[in-house]
Amino acid sequence: MNDLLIIGGGVIGLSVARELHKKGIKNITILEREGEVGKEASFAAAGMLAPHAESQRTDDFFYFCHESNEIYPNFARELFDETGVDIELNREGTLYLAFTENDSREIRERFEWQKNSGFSVEYLTAQEVRKAEPFVSPDVREGLFFPRDWQVENRRLLYALQKFAELNGIEIRTNTEVKNLLFENGKIIGAETDTEKFFVGKIVLASGAWTSLVKLDTRVLPMPTVRPIRGQMISFRTAKRLFAKVIYTPRGYLVPRADGRILSGATVEDAGFNKSLTESGIEFLRQNALEISPSLAGLEIFEKWSGLRPCAADGFPILGALPELENLFIATAHYRNGILLAPLTAKILADKIVGDKNSKYLESFSPRRFRTVTAI
Ligand SMILES: Cc1cc2nc3c(=O)[nH]c(=O)nc-3n(C[C@H](O)[C@H](O)[C@H](O)COP(=O)(O)OP(=O)(O)OC[C@H]3O[C@@H](n4cnc5c(N)ncnc54)[C@H](O)[C@@H]3O)c2cc1C
Repeated sequence: MNDLLIIGGGVIGLSVARELHKKGIKNITILEREGEVGKEASFAAAGMLAPHAESQRTDDFFYFCHESNEIYPNFARELFDETGVDIELNREGTLYLAFTENDSREIRERFEWQKNSGFSVEYLTAQEVRKAEPFVSPDVREGLFFPRDWQVENRRLLYALQKFAELNGIEIRTNTEVKNLLFENGKIIGAETDTEKFFVGKIVLASGAWTSLVKLDTRVLPMPTVRPIRGQMISFRTAKRLFAKVIYTPRGYLVPRADGRILSGATVEDAGFNKSLTESGIEFLRQNALEISPSLAGLEIFEKWSGLRPCAADGFPILGALPELENLFIATAHYRNGILLAPLTAKILADKIVGDKNSKYLESFSPRRFRTVTAI
């Protein structure tokens, strides 16, 4: 019998596996539907670690993002020591720019609530913006600088987490799609695919946008619904690095990578499980990029891709156990911020699973918040 099964090998499943291993759980298996781990939303992401640009108010979600961001430097250092992989944590900060009157209103409001809450945010005039990033369009009106909104190379992060699993005997079973969770006497006893059954002590469901497709075999457990929200992305490539910082507007962002790629993202579309790229989506991303920097106009698109963000009904993560099934833990619905939230998600979940330690975030983001039915 496996001690612990993790369903889904994205950034969340892989991070939880690592943290549980570090806490002494040795018999961990990750089941992954695809031929490789880490090739879905986590691979598609832009890798921004942006609590200040992504949050709308000072609430538990903001603090969850902020705390996860704060542990990133240590997370990156530890992963490097453990695997030799540099996940390219870049702490140059993020600019949030205004090009229209509405944008100006939005950034002034953002500046006010963040400043009043004592956060690290600086107001910049157009001139100061262009001094910080000379390739930004002369049409910029003003901007904010978030020194504590960073970025990471998420594909290298996935590589590091996968390597950690390989080096530490965490089993990864690819091409293994869980269809049902097996339930007996008030407990989850395992999971099954079309051809195999896995019997386990505990399960972590980290299956991202596909979470609602996993069923219980005989009874229907009212699980919270997770929807896929498509994000298309493109990148350009320049020989000389044009930008140091992540550059954000209310319509999209540019993320400059160390290797000269500049990512432009992302669309936000309710298109079911369809990951196709669309001409209009790609054009939208190109136009956003040119609005930020007309210098990109002559460049060919280097790469195009898309991914499905896992989104709950209220847009917030779903974390922790269901009351009826205490050996089933859910870690999903990180929507636009799963890369940012992976280290803290892994930590609080592992603390709960191993030491029955509670975190206020397990309370705020509990699956119970969607409940109308209380017993099965
Ligand atoms: C375009 C785009 C840009 C983004 N940018 C950012 C960003 O800048 N910063 C940030 O923090 N976040 C960003 N995100 C969000 C982030 O990518 C997600 O929140 C995060 O990757 C979710 O991780 P996950 O492990 O839950 O999901 P996934 O990475 O999708 O992993 C889930 C895994 O579970 C597997 N699976 C599903 N069902 C089963 C099953 N039944 N059996 C076995 N395996 C199964 C899947 O194949 C998949 O590998 C972005 C997302 C997109 C799409």
